Amino acid sequence: MKSEDYIAKEEKYGAHNYHPLPVVLERGEGIFLWDVEGKRYYDFLSAYSAVNQGHCHPRIINAMIQQAKILTLTSRAFYNNVLGEFEEYITGLLGYDRVLPMNSGAEADETAIKLCRKWAYLKKGIPENQAKIIVCEGNFHGRTITIVSMSNDPDSFKDYGPFTPGFVKIPYNNIAELEKALLDPHVAGFVVEPIQGEAGVMVPDTGYLKKAYDLCKSKNVLFIADEVQTGLARTGKMLACDHENVKPDILVLGKALSGGAMPVSAVLANDEIMLTIKPGEHGSTFGGNPLACRVAIEALKVLQDEKLAENATRLGELFRKEVSNIKSDMIELVRGKGLLNAIVIKPKNGKTAWDVCVKMKENGLLAKPTHEHIIRFAPPLVITEQQIKESIEIIKISLEAIN
Ligand code: PLP
Repeated sequence: MKSEDYIAKEEKYGAHNYHPLPVVLERGEGIFLWDVEGKRYYDFLSAYSAVNQGHCHPRIINAMIQQAKILTLTSRAFYNNVLGEFEEYITGLLGYDRVLPMNSGAEADETAIKLCRKWAYLKKGIPENQAKIIVCEGNFHGRTITIVSMSNDPDSFKDYGPFTPGFVKIPYNNIAELEKALLDPHVAGFVVEPIQGEAGVMVPDTGYLKKAYDLCKSKNVLFIADEVQTGLARTGKMLACDHENVKPDILVLGKALSGGAMPVSAVLANDEIMLTIKPGEHGSTFGGNPLACRVAIEALKVLQDEKLAENATRLGELFRKEVSNIKSDMIELVRGKGLLNAIVIKPKNGKTAWDVCVKMKENGLLAKPTHEHIIRFAPPLVITEQQIKESIEIIKISLEAIN
């Protein structure tokens, strides 16, 4: 079968809930992907930052294979001999009392919302069913009904109502609006992405997170960071909140927690918050399974052993500098942090960000527009200086080829 045949099969039998670039991938290694015709590509999406450690990292895959041969799933009806090790490791690494493991990022965000509400009723003393959670316009936290209830993007919520109540939407990167919203005594939490990834790599002003955190503290409101995309070395620190020395009350992780090997997510918090959920009140059949735990421990160790945060800082700076120097009237703006970057594209003769991505694909680099005019560039963090320079050359010749 050729690429067209695979694409036709998906088109015919699959739901049409995605609009992929026309490339059919069959193999990945490090920063590279290969299509079914054997053509090699630089991966500049990294499965939306799930593959920070690079495709099929040998240590992660080996941990996965070894554990898969012994035990994969027991459910939480019983203890297993890996979960505790994972819990001890990740809480020690990130400095929290406890962790609650889930699978997808959306599930972990749902968990954070439930935890926040539980804490609001049991600890803060908000009257039953009246807790409010402040969220930011432009957010992306996943696709469940409750999570799209937090969204102001019609693509996410239109025709999916009725929605979950209890969310207050304010503009992102706006301290004055946060301060105003926090006047309501029924506010229990503030959910924020340290950088809004899906919105197009929206980097807030320096100091925003710290000011927001301090305001939340002054009102006894939980600061909840969704680091599903920004966390785990992507922006040049283990967590993007580390750039401002902010320690979220509830931390949400996903994606790169498995290095892309399988869905693994987690919510971290201290006792006062985490212990409000009692046995039987929340969970997931697959959450905390020994296979996921083994994979997650190795994925976290790889991030540290290979100093991937440092690499993201160094090569991110290089990327932004070199791309800003490309002379193209299609580049409106280059922004980002670490290796989470974006180019805002100015359409030219009817050609848009999509056309740029198609051209880059032809030239051997894969990236995808987020919203209409923004292209996100987020390669695996194992990329080298030489490779990033080659990639920038591909971006350059692709932009030049559009006229
Ligand atoms: N939160 C953020 C910040 C994300 O970027 C995403 C996915 O892109 C999610 C949550 C949802 O994760 P998942 O697709 O694993 O449910």
